[in-house]
Amino acid sequence: MVAVMPEKFVWLFSQRYIAGRTLEEAMATSKMLNSKGIDCTVDVLGEYITKKEEAVEYKEMYLRTIASVKENKVEASISVKPTMFGLLLDKDFCYSHIRELIIEARKQEVTICLDMEDSACTDDEIALFQKLYTEFPDSVSFVLQAYLKRTLNDLKYLTTFNNKEYPINIRLCKGIYVEPEDIAFKNKHRINKNYTESLDYMMQHNFYCSIATHDKSLIREAFHLIEKHKYAKSMYEFQMLYGVRPKLRDQIVQKGNKMRIYVPYGQNWFGYSTRRLKENPRMVTDIIKALIIRN
Ligand SMILES: Cc1cc2nc3c(=O)[nH]c(=O)nc-3n(C[C@H](O)[C@H](O)[C@H](O)COP(=O)(O)OP(=O)(O)OC[C@H]3O[C@@H](n4cnc5c(N)ncnc54)[C@H](O)[C@@H]3O)c2cc1C
Repeated sequence: MVAVMPEKFVWLFSQRYIAGRTLEEAMATSKMLNSKGIDCTVDVLGEYITKKEEAVEYKEMYLRTIASVKENKVEASISVKPTMFGLLLDKDFCYSHIRELIIEARKQEVTICLDMEDSACTDDEIALFQKLYTEFPDSVSFVLQAYLKRTLNDLKYLTTFNNKEYPINIRLCKGIYVEPEDIAFKNKHRINKNYTESLDYMMQHNFYCSIATHDKSLIREAFHLIEKHKYAKSMYEFQMLYGVRPKLRDQIVQKGNKMRIYVPYGQNWFGYSTRRLKENPRMVTDIIKALIIRN
């Protein structure tokens, strides 16, 4: 069905989750969230380029985004998908373009998060993160996915180069891609168990914990772990996607916790939305639920 859905119809679903097509719209959304005491991470929509020239265009867009965050005095970091910079075409090319972005972002005191993509990218993205974090420990953060069976081992590996002064900031999420059963947990309880164990490990090993979930039971578990480890407020934050569970988001903020919202924008919203729906049809139910119940 997704393949034949008209653009206008997909936009009906997508607009609640996407700040807009333009940078101005992304800045307006971010300012609105900032006014509620919420930080943002701004993402330019796009992924899996097939020609290197596309990476150059995306870099320009990101440079404009970074400049705009600074000019508008918006509290926001930037999220980047490495395949948008050619990770699957040429790893060195991808590294040098993202490195340039980080250098510019540092000048503007903006940090960059490397999003995690499908399992074909995991090893390369860890290697990319290691290289960039070793050079810019104060400016780059990373993502791990609790549905992958390897995640606890990946955390153990990251511990080997975790810098005490600038602890590695990991956004821990469940994971959005459809992965084969031999490498990924499929059962919700098993994914949640891996999430909780991973978060527990992160707190034992001095990671900055970005707790990215809308799952109430996981949020409850996260609060238990914060209490158990007496984890300092300066060492964790919650993260959610723009448009998802705003009431829950506001409750977490009202309890005095730091919250960051993922704000995607750009012309490539159609490709992004339909790809996500095709990859994970379960999202359709989530989206319909979210349109009806503002929970
Ligand atoms: C800030 C942030 C950044 C992320 N970055 C990445 C990344 O880099 N790589 C990656 O693979 N994944 C990423 N994700 C997506 C993540 O992996 C999950 O797919 C997504 O967050 C849903 O998982 P959940 O923990 O909310 O739990 P779920 O059990 O999936 O959801 C709990 C409830 O939240 C609601 N909900 C969740 N998602 C939606 C939605 N899209 N629309 C409407 N309602 C929804 C539903 O009511 C659902 O029942 C990110 C998520 C967040 C919050």
